[in-house]
Amino acid sequence: MCINDSTSVEHAPPKCFFPKEMRTNLITVPSCPIHNEETSKDDEYARNVITMCIENNQTSNNHFLDKSLSSFKRSIGLAMPILVSLKDASFYKLNAMSFQIDRPRFDRIIRKIAYALFFREYGYTWEKLITPSTNQIKMSNMENDYLGVIFETFLDEFDTLKFKGENPLVFKYAFINSDVGKYDKVLFMIFYEGFPFCVLPDAKSDHCSFD
Ligand SMILES: [Zn+2]
Repeated sequence: MCINDSTSVEHAPPKCFFPKEMRTNLITVPSCPIHNEETSKDDEYARNVITMCIENNQTSNNHFLDKSLSSFKRSIGLAMPILVSLKDASFYKLNAMSFQIDRPRFDRIIRKIAYALFFREYGYTWEKLITPSTNQIKMSNMENDYLGVIFETFLDEFDTLKFKGENPLVFKYAFINSDVGKYDKVLFMIFYEGFPFCVLPDAKSDHCSFD
């Protein structure tokens, strides 16, 4: 997704998403230092947010208690914005709490994973602006944002897809063709069986959207 030389391999999703005993056959792509080591704090941020999703499986709950919680204890910068914005959201789901997220920071990691998976799947770069949509990130009134509304139109697709991924309790993904062009694909991902994404390319763009 960039023109820098690759000096290492990057895991997609990042290694920190996987409990130690599940780090087998992880997906890797060549990476430059900027898009590997230098995003590790953001990787941790995205992992922390995702493992707090109330719809996730037990693997996620265990990983939250094992890793995300100690990440918060280590880093006041990661913990504070979540703690100060915690709100009761039991009107949405019993015992649920809501918190605010830094969506640009979060989306950067989701897009990074999406570009890596595309490269791994097709052997060339996804030269499109791409947008992650999900129904697990809500507006403050707990309704979907406009991307979440688009996401909901893809919900039926999830049942028909053949997902890939050696550790489906943590992560699985599938691409479908949205048109005939080599970049016209839509990516579906599910983290911990409960946090889904649909990553959509901008049909008119001709470059990547990593910043
Ligand atoms: Zn790079």
